[in-house]
Amino acid sequence: MNNSEFSSLNLSPALQENLASLGYLQMTPIQAQSLPLVLDGKDLIAKAKTGSGKTAAFGLGLLAKLNVNRLEVQALVLCPTRELADQVAQEIRRLARALPNVKLVTLCGGTPTAPQSATLSFGAHIAVGTPGRILKHLEQGTLELSGLKTLVLDEADRMLDMGFGEDINRVISYAPQQRQTLLFSATYPEGIAQMSRGVQRNPVEVSVESLH
Ligand code: ADP
Ligand code: MG
Repeated sequence: MNNSEFSSLNLSPALQENLASLGYLQMTPIQAQSLPLVLDGKDLIAKAKTGSGKTAAFGLGLLAKLNVNRLEVQALVLCPTRELADQVAQEIRRLARALPNVKLVTLCGGTPTAPQSATLSFGAHIAVGTPGRILKHLEQGTLELSGLKTLVLDEADRMLDMGFGEDINRVISYAPQQRQTLLFSATYPEGIAQMSRGVQRNPVEVSVESLH
């Protein structure tokens, strides 16, 4: 049913050409299901296993909406661990190569806050990090979300398992009501449904049960 060519999407020629140069010839199944909805501005609950290409499913969406001329945080990605945040940041940087001067900052715990605050003071378009540290920057005023367009909860089930539910809700209390919220999860327990009801608006659910 779904067209799996990236060219079927309403993406800029620069993003399309970069995908070709990365060797991304076809969308993975979760990308084919998610990207048309994401680019259409819908809130999404996407369920798919590790390795299925979820990062590009939200990464291309947030990059398509980015206004590089406005140096404010327009996309925020919450991840359970520093390792996963670093992986997401790396993949978004690859996807963003075609766009000039996109500034991405990673904000994770277990490392001093001051250098992150200094980086933030120069401005960023995209922030990727763990909920506790992002909340800390919001509380101390070094991170500001009034220009936020896209909020991503990546590996939402793991974040809940790790006890980040309350921090996530507090982070979201700093975000504008008018935004797109994308929730990615490998599983869909009741806690995720409950979180979605609190933070999403008429979410569309997509699911890929197996990798291929
Ligand atoms: P997930 O978040 O679902 O675990 P990732 O987003 O980390 O998966 O993607 C897994 C790997 O697949 C990455 O190395 C990524 O570069 C690659 N990848 C993603 N989408 C495509 C695609 N459409 N074509 C080829 N490789 C892809
Ligand atoms: Mg992932």
